[in-house]
Amino acid sequence: MSFTTLGLSEPILKAIKETGYTTPTPIQKQAIPIILEGKDVLAGAQTGTGKTAGFTLPILQHLRDTPIQKGKARKVRALILTPTRELAAQVAENVTTYSKHLPFSHSVIFGGVAIRPQISRLRKGVDIVTATPGRLLDLANQKAINLSSVEYLVLDEADRMLDMGFIHDIKKILALLPKKRQSLLFSATFSKDIKRLADTLLNSPVLIEVARANATTTQVKQVVYPVDKARKRELLVHLIKKNGWKQVLIFTRTKHGANKLSEVLAKKGITSAAIHGNKSQGARTKALANFKDGTVRTLVATDIAARGIDIDQLPHVVNFELPNVPEDYVHRIGRTGRAGREGEAASLVCIDEKDLLRDIEKLIKKKIDKVQIEGFTPDPDIKPEPKKQSGGRNSRNKNSRGGGQTRRSKGNRSNTKK
Ligand code: AMP
Repeated sequence: MSFTTLGLSEPILKAIKETGYTTPTPIQKQAIPIILEGKDVLAGAQTGTGKTAGFTLPILQHLRDTPIQKGKARKVRALILTPTRELAAQVAENVTTYSKHLPFSHSVIFGGVAIRPQISRLRKGVDIVTATPGRLLDLANQKAINLSSVEYLVLDEADRMLDMGFIHDIKKILALLPKKRQSLLFSATFSKDIKRLADTLLNSPVLIEVARANATTTQVKQVVYPVDKARKRELLVHLIKKNGWKQVLIFTRTKHGANKLSEVLAKKGITSAAIHGNKSQGARTKALANFKDGTVRTLVATDIAARGIDIDQLPHVVNFELPNVPEDYVHRIGRTGRAGREGEAASLVCIDEKDLLRDIEKLIKKKIDKVQIEGFTPDPDIKPEPKKQSGGRNSRNKNSRGGGQTRRSKGNRSNTKK
């Protein structure tokens, strides 16, 4: 099956061809015709499935099928909401790529950078906006953006938006949109909260699921390396050097841990950068660019900072520490094995993380293979550390997640955090 049978027009097909895609991915095959029919969609698809093109291409087609707007009077016709700046930037990149041969103007909006340029861009008139909720609301409150003509709404990585506490902002944004519109909700996991949100947002939606919700992609080879906590850094250096891993995304739970690990790797001769909520947008973009082009071999990230990182053929993801919330494991390893390519996810697991591992295996409904690296066998005399009150295994306390991951109030909304 090729893209030509999906109902997309020539300028879009041309852009797809130039991007090098030959066959639509399963989510694209299913979602594109349904979205073209004008139906609301509830899609279970994680990053790496090709979901971005899955919603962008039919929206571009819809926009093209109705009168093209010109000049400053253009009204925002399509709104794509994402949880993080990185994801917003990447979705925007996709929109730019696929609309190359179309006359639409597009703008990306997120916090943590100056608001003025975003306002002047909007004043020139835009058809498509990709935005994080906090900054979008700021702009709406300042009357710098008018959302009353939005025809197409996408909530991308909706589960993550809820995790990040965006529900109130989303509701406020929904109140600014016309009732008559086509809405698409994409989420990697389906919790009760997501279903509730879908109920308020979608009108008789068609349910599309590519990988089973909460299941890990089959292309990802998953391995657990048992090791003592104090020897994790040493084992990581060993694995990277011995296996000659070239591009490794490493997850730590805390920002401090990310910085420290990145320094240790650099000292051991493995080029590295850290990416987390305390870094400026500029520093994050630079770190990501260096990682993408191979200038640095390892990128150490916290969960929230890594959301939406989109790198073609990312071969290795390492969980230096397991996440407190099992769903984050699925998100983390979704960074690799994308769009049909093979990937490997390695987890360095110490005795304190036994329960976390058990919860993850329960969620993904399979046991992860354990591989013991010679010389790193855990010391049987080391006993688990007593559990902390707030950071327990099943704790959903946001403050215990990943060492103070940025919440909206600190991240997307803030204008001062440079
Ligand atoms: P996404 O799930 O939207 O983040 O996309 C994951 C990756 O798959 C991106 O790097 C896309 O460029 C790539 N991709 C999307 N659609 C296709 C396709 N039909 N064929 C090959 N690669 C694709």
